[in-house]
Amino acid sequence: MPVLTPDQASYSSRVQVLIIGAGACGTIAALAANERGAEVLILERDARPMGNTSLSGGQIPAAGTRLQKAAGLMDDTPELLFQDLVAKAHGECDLEIARHVAYASGPTVEWLAERYQLPISPVLEFQYPGHSRPHMHASPTRYGAELLAVLVSAVEGEGIPIATSAHVTDLFADASGHVHGVRVKRPDGKQEDMGCDVLILACNGFGGNKDMLRQYIPEAVDLFYEGHAGNQGEAIQWGIALGASVKDMGSFQGHGAVATPHAVHLSWPTVTEGGFHVNQAGRRFSNENSGYSEQALHVHRQAGQYAWAIWDERGEGPANKQHSHMQANEAGAIKRHDSVASLAKAIGCDEAVLAETFADVAACANGSKTDALGRDFTRKPALQAPFYLCKIIGALTHTQGGLEINTDMRVLRTDGSPFPNLFAGGGAARGLSGPADWGYLSGSGLLMATSTGRLAGEAAAAQVGPAQA
Ligand SMILES: Cc1cc2nc3c(=O)[nH]c(=O)nc-3n(C[C@H](O)[C@H](O)[C@H](O)COP(=O)(O)OP(=O)(O)OC[C@H]3O[C@@H](n4cnc5c(N)ncnc54)[C@H](O)[C@@H]3O)c2cc1C
Repeated sequence: MPVLTPDQASYSSRVQVLIIGAGACGTIAALAANERGAEVLILERDARPMGNTSLSGGQIPAAGTRLQKAAGLMDDTPELLFQDLVAKAHGECDLEIARHVAYASGPTVEWLAERYQLPISPVLEFQYPGHSRPHMHASPTRYGAELLAVLVSAVEGEGIPIATSAHVTDLFADASGHVHGVRVKRPDGKQEDMGCDVLILACNGFGGNKDMLRQYIPEAVDLFYEGHAGNQGEAIQWGIALGASVKDMGSFQGHGAVATPHAVHLSWPTVTEGGFHVNQAGRRFSNENSGYSEQALHVHRQAGQYAWAIWDERGEGPANKQHSHMQANEAGAIKRHDSVASLAKAIGCDEAVLAETFADVAACANGSKTDALGRDFTRKPALQAPFYLCKIIGALTHTQGGLEINTDMRVLRTDGSPFPNLFAGGGAARGLSGPADWGYLSGSGLLMATSTGRLAGEAAAAQVGPAQA
């Protein structure tokens, strides 16, 4: 029973702002609430904070930042980021939240860089599909573990407690939907009840929960899950039990190029710089450049549920600046080939078929042909040897459906009214991708986690007021 009545609780402690989850959303919410004088506690199920944040590429879209201007990018604006989000989601996301988050993105990234020394700068080595400007910001390693390490150390530096190995199993709420506290289960089986004035749900979506995937996204159940096992969808289950509105539950971010069997993804310059994917027969099967999310199911639907990524030096240069791609290289997943014949031999396909695919792409690149799969190849020259090859599968990265929130990050009931003291952000909240896998604009995950985390922390602190000395 995920939501219990208040009389079933036996509180051992009480805090003003209680946050479930120590990923980007939870840690940033904690910093924002603490800055406004609130007393904060984070509860984290793992022995050490990790979450999807630490598995990620750590790339955060933010528009019109001082960091972009310092790098000579003068023409990015929150409005452009908003338009990119809406265009990718075909207008089917919550437009008010998308606009709010796009406008919050720049101040959030600047605040993290300037106040908490997040070592972040614009990503200039390539531009993601659907980004009309280089919106991405990341730390030098392009690795989320570095991002989370900085956030956790900022939280610790502020003296904000993080209780680890603290798995929240239940909420206590009354009939009005007012949350009084939570029940925590420790690894030794002991339980502890903690009271709170407000609760922020920052415990991500349900990518690790096969039953929920079966219910909401059956087509993703068999995809390899690239995310954190602890994302069990509890925020959504508690919300539903309380009468909250959940939206876009069939939506997810996939990744269409995970090296197999190595289980780390290739970076997307392998596609944006002219590379493409072929199946075991040596034929292309989709517009790879639509986005890495929707490419996951395209790859999964090929014979054997795998495909082959082919790219050249132009893609390898920027790709190999990204942590996961470097891991793929270190694992020996990526092989260099001097000719199409050598590629065909490694794939085990008919050389003539692969040569035909190369000729077809070259014709599309020089504009003498239009791609039958709808991709515009004209922006980059055709691939040149040496080529790079990797066997790939499609993966589920994280779910995008979740709790409906308003611009104060308050969780909404099905009738649209806000709960009195319940906030949500990051992957626990409805994402910006619309109803399916095709609506995910690269970086929307951390965009949501960082901006909604900050906004939720601020709103929660404003509700409780400063802690009494
Ligand atoms: C391989 C990979 C690469 C990615 N790359 C990018 C990228 O470059 N850019 C981008 O924007 N997005 C990326 N994403 C998505 C991004 O990582 C997520 O959208 C983002 O980290 C979500 O942050 P969060 O704080 O909401 O969740 P998380 O970081 O997952 O944190 C949630 C925390 O809640 C804890 N928790 C869960 N349930 C409970 C409970 N019941 N009790 C206590 N604690 C609980 C979890 O243990 C976890 O620590 C990537 C994801 C993956 C998997």
